[in-house]
Amino acid sequence: MKYALVTGASRGLGRAVALRLAKDGFAVIINYQSNKEAAEETLKLVQEAGGNGELLPFDVADSKAIETALESWQSAHPEEYISVLVNNAGIRKDNLMIFMQETEWNNVVDTTLNGFFYITRRLLKDMITHRNGRIINMSSLSGLKGLPGQTNYSAAKAALIGATKALAQEVAARKITVNAIAPGFISTDMTKELNEAELKKLIPMGRFGKPEEVASLTSFLASDEAAYITGQVISINGGLYT
Ligand code: NAP
Repeated sequence: MKYALVTGASRGLGRAVALRLAKDGFAVIINYQSNKEAAEETLKLVQEAGGNGELLPFDVADSKAIETALESWQSAHPEEYISVLVNNAGIRKDNLMIFMQETEWNNVVDTTLNGFFYITRRLLKDMITHRNGRIINMSSLSGLKGLPGQTNYSAAKAALIGATKALAQEVAARKITVNAIAPGFISTDMTKELNEAELKKLIPMGRFGKPEEVASLTSFLASDEAAYITGQVISINGGLYT
């Protein structure tokens, strides 16, 4: 069995990615922070699709909680390792810089950037030993072009791109690929309060993306076919200029 860990898989993009990777034949480890009910729904969807899955809650911003959760996973699967990691968990705390609170800045950076660091560092050792791995980081259009009201989010997502490019070069010889995905506007809880009717006018395709479309790209990057793609940032945004 090949194992894939998807952080923030209780809802939105993470749920769609978990479901798709399960359909691709991976046993999926469904991480979430607090929304157990939604995570159980993801697991149910995985199982209904004939896939294998399990829940592994932890806060991606908490290095000790990650250690504990991954150690308990390893004890339950002593012969196995996680070969696909999708660093997807993320939050928005939008505010204009002049009004931004330290907590708004720190929470976003801790979740997106420090979360990436803690989990990836922990799983990298096994990937290196097995000379096989796929790391896929959910960045954002906001990390490429910057969006007003999102200095915290844009900074964290841009930093994730820098880390993706650096790590890709560190581990390429070990047959581990590291790529980032930069979605534009995708219909999830994160975007439900945005003015979709107005924003759609800016998108050449005239619509928000679907989580399944991002899942499809993630599935490809996780596959054997994507073995020669690394250190890249792939936009999926309906033609928005970045
Ligand atoms: P979402 O619907 O708000 O879902 C967020 C997910 O992340 C939930 O599963 C949530 O778990 C989890 N999460 C949040 N903080 C966490 C933490 N500290 N530890 C563990 N899990 C945590 O968001 P989404 O739209 O699917 O976004 C997924 C990723 O894509 C994010 O990184 C986001 O920045 C990025 N992105 C989204 C869009 C978009 O248009 N939607 C565009 C560009 C990039 P709980 O359910 O337990 O809260």
